[in-house]
Amino acid sequence: MKILVIEDEHKIANSIKKGLEQESYAVDVTYSGTDGFDMASSEEYDVIILDLMLPDMDGIEICHKLRQEKINTPILILTAKGQLEDKVKGLNSGADDYLTKPFAFTELLARIRALSRRPKTNLGPVLKYEDLTLNTISFEVKRGEKEIKLSKQEFALLEYLLRHAGTISTKDQIINNVWDYDADILPNTVEVYIGYLRNKIDKPFKGKPNLILTLRGFGYKIGKENHV
Ligand code: CA
Repeated sequence: MKILVIEDEHKIANSIKKGLEQESYAVDVTYSGTDGFDMASSEEYDVIILDLMLPDMDGIEICHKLRQEKINTPILILTAKGQLEDKVKGLNSGADDYLTKPFAFTELLARIRALSRRPKTNLGPVLKYEDLTLNTISFEVKRGEKEIKLSKQEFALLEYLLRHAGTISTKDQIINNVWDYDADILPNTVEVYIGYLRNKIDKPFKGKPNLILTLRGFGYKIGKENHV
């Protein structure tokens, strides 16, 4: 497994490299966006970790250009907290997943493992699990042919869960990635929003499997009930 890290903050880049090497990954690091783009387009990597704010060529442009050149290496973008708009732009330009700084190394590892298991085709703007689809550009959500109206926050939560379908997301991960840093978050906020989503996505569809699952003491995931 070979990983490319494109990150101009030397401290972060080097600590990611050190940590991943301890996990037996081969890691190339570059602090420059243009060099990163050249490396990503000329060598084979299993995953690219890409910072969005780079001095020469920014992460969104890199993503966009790589996808244009049909390079489908999974891309995990790193964004600073509160840059919700950049995160969305990054995903729409072809990134596969994102992580908000500061992040726990264990979470970075889990994301890399999930991405490297995924077939090398970009998820694209439509996220799908069973008959549930979410379009990140038109903001359309459907179960089967039935359209589902979600609030902005419900949409963001469902998008996060769908990007990590089949894996558990803890409450902390959800809060860190779905809510802005200045949002008012109560201890039960995530639970409440999961409830709202269930009322729209699972409850009205009697006879279909529930897709939003609670794993008591661990967190939540999109999955099929009998496959917990
Ligand atoms: Ca940076």
